[in-house]
Amino acid sequence: MRMPVLFIGHGAPTNALANNPYTHALIKLGKELPRPKAILCVSAHWVTEDSRVLVSEKPKTIHDFGGFPRELYQVQYPASGAVETARKISKDLALLTDDSWGLDHGTWSVLVHMYPKADVPVFQLSLDQSKKFEEHLELGRKLESLRDQGILILGSGNLTHNLGEINWEPNAEPVDWAVEFDSKAKEALEKRDENFLIDVSAWGKGLFRKNHPTADHYIPLLYVLGTSTDKDKLSYPYEGFEYGSLSMRMVKFG
Ligand code: ZN
Repeated sequence: MRMPVLFIGHGAPTNALANNPYTHALIKLGKELPRPKAILCVSAHWVTEDSRVLVSEKPKTIHDFGGFPRELYQVQYPASGAVETARKISKDLALLTDDSWGLDHGTWSVLVHMYPKADVPVFQLSLDQSKKFEEHLELGRKLESLRDQGILILGSGNLTHNLGEINWEPNAEPVDWAVEFDSKAKEALEKRDENFLIDVSAWGKGLFRKNHPTADHYIPLLYVLGTSTDKDKLSYPYEGFEYGSLSMRMVKFG
């Protein structure tokens, strides 16, 4: 069974505890997707100086945020790791292994809704901050065959992500520059315009940097693009914004 590929906008960590149309879309995905043998998450929240594959047998739940309600720090996501698969990938692609990281909130805040029983093994791939966009895309291409092994590849970030411009009203009207970026990204995905999606200067003056002062929440999309092909049907299990500037768009290939 060939697995689809997902990009999920994760937004605020508090979505882990929320009950809203966004979390309902995640629950629905978890029920509708073919059951994965394992999940490989490329999270915006694991940035390293090289590409690393998580090889923990029992990855810890990392609460990598500050200033949120106490109950959020009590969330545990006790999925097992996928050590054998992770080691094979690291060997085949000459990537480093890592057993010091765990599951960060880019991963568990999504999976608590999709797979609440935590009964699917999970591992992560880090974002190498020295890689160019085209190199992330290329590494994504090398992961494509995992889809045929029943592995669900999940990129977790946000299509627009400027924390300095957050409006703390959760349902605030989305700002123009975020709406523009989100719709340009959608258009480029529909055309599979890879050259556009890896070129910061192509988006118009300052638009990319306005939406991504740092690119960590964008880069997971490049992995999802790399693991998809033009044979995959493209759909959006959820579209919308929170806090005025965070696109919560979900992208599904296949
Ligand atoms: Zn995040």
